[in-house]
Amino acid sequence: MTDGRALAREFLEQQRQLGGNPVILPEGSTPGNTQARPAREGSDLPPPGISYDPPGGDLFSNDPVPQAISLDAIAQLVAGCTKCRLCEGRRHTVPGEGAADARLVVVGEGPGRVEDETGRPFVGPAGELLTKILGAIELPRERVFICNVVKCRPPENRLPQFDEIAACVPYLFRQIDIVKPSVILAMGGTAAQTLLNTKQSLGALRNFVHRFRGIPLIVTYHPAALLRNPNWKKPTWDDVRIARRLIA
Ligand code: URA
Ligand code: SF4
Repeated sequence: MTDGRALAREFLEQQRQLGGNPVILPEGSTPGNTQARPAREGSDLPPPGISYDPPGGDLFSNDPVPQAISLDAIAQLVAGCTKCRLCEGRRHTVPGEGAADARLVVVGEGPGRVEDETGRPFVGPAGELLTKILGAIELPRERVFICNVVKCRPPENRLPQFDEIAACVPYLFRQIDIVKPSVILAMGGTAAQTLLNTKQSLGALRNFVHRFRGIPLIVTYHPAALLRNPNWKKPTWDDVRIARRLIA
């Protein structure tokens, strides 16, 4: 007879030995709890943080977003989307771009002026910096999938509001589902808080290896913030190098 508990114990022990994240932290728990934990032997990676698994698509619903089969199909749905007020002021939707088989997905906040004018993510000043950052870890832009939490530009580049994020995030979730990257890089508080379903600050979320649907997720500063505060460049480079190392 199989002892379910023994099997579960064995599985958890295996996960621990593999350096995995053995526990799904309940919503609202702080990664601060794990901070005191000594670094895992043979690894100087940051300790595990939040693990968040939003529900996947419902097979029986007729919502087209979770059922879209390609990045192009998502982009088409985004192009016609009027699910939130951000559709009113947009010139172009900015669904995201890059390799469908990318091993790294970079997630920003939302399109800025140049992105809205061109329909392409991260092509303004912040985008130029992102391209440099990716160059530093020898990942050309074309090999990465780059996108944002909201796909239409918020007026005057204000923060996207909670209901706008809620309306738009199924597109992002499905994009990640389709690309199946080995690492996600969340740039800035909006991306990090949305993907980890938390209100914790960017500062509290950095320096952990979080997980989104099991995929390792690293949090770092937003390139636009780096343009305002160059002191954050060094820590950002450190974060990005950790992300690079996690790419199998
Ligand atoms: N900032 C973002 O968050 N995304 C972009 O695409 C450009 C600037
Ligand atoms: Fe639709 Fe997202 Fe644009 Fe809102 S921001 S209209 S949800 S694509």
